[in-house]
Parts: sequence; structure tokens; C-alpha cells
Amino acid sequence: MLRPTKEMLPFKVVYHEKYDLNLGPHVFPSQKFRLIAEALIAEKIATAEDFAKPDPAGDEDILRVHAPDWVRKLKTGTLSAREVMLLEIPYSRELVDAVWLAAGGSILAAQCALRDGFAANLGGGFHHAYPNHGEGFCAIHDVAVAIRRLQADGAIRKAMVVDTDVHHGNGTAAIFQKDPSVFTISIHQENNYPAHKPPSSIDLNMMDRADDEEYLAALLPALQKALDEFRPELLFYIGGADPFCEDQLGGLSLTKKGLMERDRRVFEEARRRGVPVATALAGGYARRVEDTVRIHVNTILAARDVAGQFPVSVALRG
Ligand SMILES: [Zn+2]
Repeated sequence: MLRPTKEMLPFKVVYHEKYDLNLGPHVFPSQKFRLIAEALIAEKIATAEDFAKPDPAGDEDILRVHAPDWVRKLKTGTLSAREVMLLEIPYSRELVDAVWLAAGGSILAAQCALRDGFAANLGGGFHHAYPNHGEGFCAIHDVAVAIRRLQADGAIRKAMVVDTDVHHGNGTAAIFQKDPSVFTISIHQENNYPAHKPPSSIDLNMMDRADDEEYLAALLPALQKALDEFRPELLFYIGGADPFCEDQLGGLSLTKKGLMERDRRVFEEARRRGVPVATALAGGYARRVEDTVRIHVNTILAARDVAGQFPVSVALRG
């Protein structure tokens, strides 16, 4: 007889089948959320017990970040044509359900990370969402919602967002610009969307076609210094798959190996300082969706490796 399945990962992966935005043939491969979850099971990286299913964020959670008017428009389907154009994905009830769930997923991931040292939301990372409008496939800023919720609960005071999506984290920067309790780092291709880049705490502007070595040489010293000086109680990692050399919306030249090394090094820097890490996905537009899925799966593998290196009792209590 088979033994009952047990957890295989030292942390939770947060996922809901309704993360899929059901966009059909769109450059945003929203089926990737499901494909990543399926790959983790198929490749015996995780079992069903490693998964945690989020509830949708409460409206009170969303409203800590977003303007009541924007929330009302999303809930009632009354976006203007210009607002839909900026969002760059069609409006639907499913979209609203999916982004409320993604925000709930990032809240749950952040809570699990405080307990276990790590947690991964297999969704979210909607870093282009502003308080009063959506942009670039992002309607609700799940990571900001999660940070504000944990602060409101008194679970953390200071958080850091490390955003490695190839596109600048403009929504994150705008939301936390005047907030000394949240430190934001964005490493992105300078010559790419969004045109307007409000300042993050640190912006690392990469030149076109920057490779693995140039990228890590920019990211690591800045991250180390920021962690030492700011000393966050939680690091939220927005792990973009779109700095990949074959990405259709990116212009950097990172390899899959380089991207996994990036993830691993960020996690190591955080965990050796005892900082819990929650991850969210963000963008990935490789011509072959398998490549995007692989890069996101590799983020989970990098987290697993680093979690083994820095066990939670040492990391969080040491
Ligand atoms: Zn992106």
C-alpha cells in the first residue's frame, strides 16, 4: 500500500486554480500559473500537501493600497475605455476574482514566510498597479496589499521589495515612495516599459542586452548594502521571468541558469541575515511558455536549496 503523501518542500506554495485570467491568445500566458503548479507535482518537487489555497483578499485589505474609486470601478465593471487601454488586458469578472485571489495569495504567502522562513505565491507580482488605476496587465498590487496587511496586523513593521522583473516596478515605487517603512529595489531594463518610472529606493537601470554577469554585479552589492542598512523583517521577492534572453517583451540577455543564480543569491543574502522571504511571480513572455514555466519552477528550486542551507530556527531566531 502507498504511504500517504507528505510534504516535500520546507515551505508552502500558495496557489488557486482561479489564478488563471483566461485571457486566451494574449501575450500574457495566464495559464502559466496552472502549468507551474502542475510541473511541481509532476516533477515530484511538491505534493498536494505542500500547497496552500488562498481566500480572496478582503476589500478592507485592498483599500489599504487602492483608491475606493478604482476598487468600485473594478467591482462594478465601470472602467473607462482609457483605463482598459492602460490595463492592456480585457476587463472581466474572472479578472477581478483572479486579482483579489492573487492578493489573498500574497497575504497568505507573507504570513507563511514569517512562520517558515520562506513561502511562494505561484501568482501575483502585479507591480505595475497604482493606487488609482491599473497598468501593464496589473489591476491590483498584491504585494503592496500583503505588506500593508501584515503591518496592520502588527506582524511586521519594515519590509523590502526586491523586484527583478525586466520592467521597472512603477506601481511599487509610487505606492511606497513616501513610506520609510518599505524599501524598494527594482532591477530592470532602462530602455523598456514603463515610460514613466517613479523612483524606487534603489533603481538599477540595466543597459540593453545586459548578461548574467553584468546583472548580478549590479544587483548583489546594492542588495547587500540595503539589507544591512535597512534591516527588513520581510523581503518580498518579485521574481520576473522576463529578463530571459528569449523574452518577447524584454531586452536583457539572462540565461535560465543566470536567472536561477539570481534567485538563489537574493534568497541567500536575505536568509543569512535572518530575513524571511515571500516570493511572487510577475512577468514572463518567452516565445515558448515552457521556458517561462521552467524559470518560475527554478525559483522554487532555488528557494528549496537555500531553505536547506539556512534552517528556519537559525535564520529567524539566530
Ligand atoms: Zn515584466
